[in-house]
Amino acid sequence: MALSEQRKIVLLGATGSIGRSTIDIVEQAPQSFSVEAVAGGRDVAALAELAIRVGARFAAIRDENLYGDLKSALSGSGVEPAAGAKAVVEAALRPADLVIGAISGAAGVEPTYAALAEGRTIALANKECLVCAGHPFMRKAQEMNATILPLDSEHDALWQALGGADAKSVEKLIITASGGPFRTWAAEQIANATREQALKHPNWSMGQKITIDSASMMNKGLELIEAHHLFGVPVDRLDVLVHPQSIIHGLVAFADGSVTASLYAPDMRVPIAHCLAWPDRLQTNAKRLDLAEVATLTFEKPDLGRFPALGVAIEALRQGGAMPTVLNAANEIAVAAFLAGEISFPEIARIAAEACETAVREGNAGEPASIEEALAVDHIVRERSRTSLAAKRRSGMVTVQ
Ligand code: NAD
Ligand code: MG
Repeated sequence: MALSEQRKIVLLGATGSIGRSTIDIVEQAPQSFSVEAVAGGRDVAALAELAIRVGARFAAIRDENLYGDLKSALSGSGVEPAAGAKAVVEAALRPADLVIGAISGAAGVEPTYAALAEGRTIALANKECLVCAGHPFMRKAQEMNATILPLDSEHDALWQALGGADAKSVEKLIITASGGPFRTWAAEQIANATREQALKHPNWSMGQKITIDSASMMNKGLELIEAHHLFGVPVDRLDVLVHPQSIIHGLVAFADGSVTASLYAPDMRVPIAHCLAWPDRLQTNAKRLDLAEVATLTFEKPDLGRFPALGVAIEALRQGGAMPTVLNAANEIAVAAFLAGEISFPEIARIAAEACETAVREGNAGEPASIEEALAVDHIVRERSRTSLAAKRRSGMVTVQ
């Protein structure tokens, strides 16, 4: 089933997990899509290979030292190479019907915002954009009358379960969480979790940052903040439900007691295809849901005692202002430090909580009025978190696994 008109897309974060799943969908419906530009971080060989395969016109690599490598990898292909932060923004601004925001982390803020400021329709996977700079993002979308399509599965599910109803009028929006690899672990076991154990997600295969966030359940906290911005709903009407099978992704509870839910097999190609084709539907070979085979769906309340990162994120959302920006920056530094083997797993939530407390104490918790202000806060918190981590390491206060 092809779309009625071909869509031109730009793919930011093409070499990542979401980027590759997007390309898989595009390749299943070649008559429905053309790829204008692709952008990636450091993996030149993969970016060049994907760009050539999908017939992109423009390929941008974030690391400017890799320009020569990209140029030679693309030589004779007709794909125009470019490198550096400006090149990624240039990719975002190429003419397109849809920009897929699938860069990981706050690194995605600038290029994704640039596309939004031109009024482009964005399919947004990069939740850190909205956590770091949610208000400036949503204000710009409104000002430009630009559409943001939620690509994150829980938010895609809420969008589908709303069925056109106004989210502001419903009683509750509920997102589900698998609970990650440590769902059944005791706190003492989680305290000693290794990088390999944290990277072993039971249901989803994803990039490293989001996989660690899923293990700490910070991911669900970031998603509550994302839902708050996307649907304009306050924190007390948002909920998290642990659902280990990852079949129901989001539920909408209406004022009359009705609840609608959106279900699909845990395969990101389902929400990606929904965003790429909306308001049409695409025929794809994404995994089909066989409920008789799944047989049992179970649900639990999240345990904020064993997963304190979720509580820290909920508190940041409650406080508002710059707190989500602070939370996101400190979490990114902490996750990178955990992945580098520099800190223990519970230290991630502690670092995020400390950064939030410091921002309040120092009176730096005011709402960032613009993207520039949000990025300035992000920068300060990263520097500070790095410095305090280094100081703790020197004094032996952080334990390395
Ligand atoms: P990933 O690590 O697999 O891929 C990240 C991509 O971003 C890569 O292409 C990388 O080269 C690129 N990148 C990194 N830094 C960059 C920079 N400074 N400039 C340009 N490109 C850069 O991550 P992922 O799992 O695909 O996740 C991407 C985003 O989507 C994240 O924000 C994540 O939270 C969100 N998301 C992912 C999933 C999933 O299933 N993987 C599900 C929902 C939401
Ligand atoms: Mg998600």
